[in-house]
Amino acid sequence: MEPQISLRGIQRVFHLGDSDVHALRDLDLDIAPGEYVAVMGPSGSGKSTLLNLLGLLDSPNQGHYLLEGRDVTTLSPDEQARVRSQRIGFVFQSFHLVPRLTAAENIALPMVLAGLPAPERQQRVAQALKDYGLEHRADHRPEELSGGQRQRVAIARATIMRPAMILADEPTGNLDRATGEEVVRLLEGLNASGVTLIVVTHDAALGARARRQLRMEDGGLKLDTARDATVPA
Ligand code: ADP
Ligand code: MG
Repeated sequence: MEPQISLRGIQRVFHLGDSDVHALRDLDLDIAPGEYVAVMGPSGSGKSTLLNLLGLLDSPNQGHYLLEGRDVTTLSPDEQARVRSQRIGFVFQSFHLVPRLTAAENIALPMVLAGLPAPERQQRVAQALKDYGLEHRADHRPEELSGGQRQRVAIARATIMRPAMILADEPTGNLDRATGEEVVRLLEGLNASGVTLIVVTHDAALGARARRQLRMEDGGLKLDTARDATVPA
């Protein structure tokens, strides 16, 4: 199958004072539509940097990123924002909800930014609140919600534009195990419906649920179970 994501020779260097941090070193990676991929590895190995690049929240210093066959590294910031809005949903460890907005308003935000008409927004928000069991929390602000509810709002917001892929950076990192499992099941349900799912996690049990595991070390791909067929995951 034609890859949905294709990285070639990706380098990301952060300059800190006199020193250079090579967060990603010469990374090549292909991911097909509908895959379920876990990204693991020690702290500082480049997992978040990789996810941010995939989500067009950051750009490489070198190399190319083809998303659905299109080189997105050369797009203008506005064009990148449009691709991000239409194709990519992001879920973060610390939820990143807008504190002043209600659950319903947080979920609606990507549609407001994309200029969807109000009736369409209202209809989609109502459905999302129902799908994620948040009907009775629609008018609550994030601080009035539990961690699990906040992450469900975040997932509803990430999926409201019907993206082709969900990128989740330690989505269960701030949740207890039971709540984390519930969040993972929601993400896996989206994957089952065809959405590509890429999850960064410290949790080996969670990582093992993915069909494909990547292990990052020092900015490189140390293990890819799709590539290294003889190496146990
Ligand atoms: P992980 O998510 O695997 O813990 P990161 O991708 O966050 O790792 O970081 C990889 C390396 O890049 C680390 O050494 C980190 O300190 C560095 N790094 C990440 N983001 C920045 C930044 N914005 N400025 C400087 N260094 C950064
Ligand atoms: Mg990280």
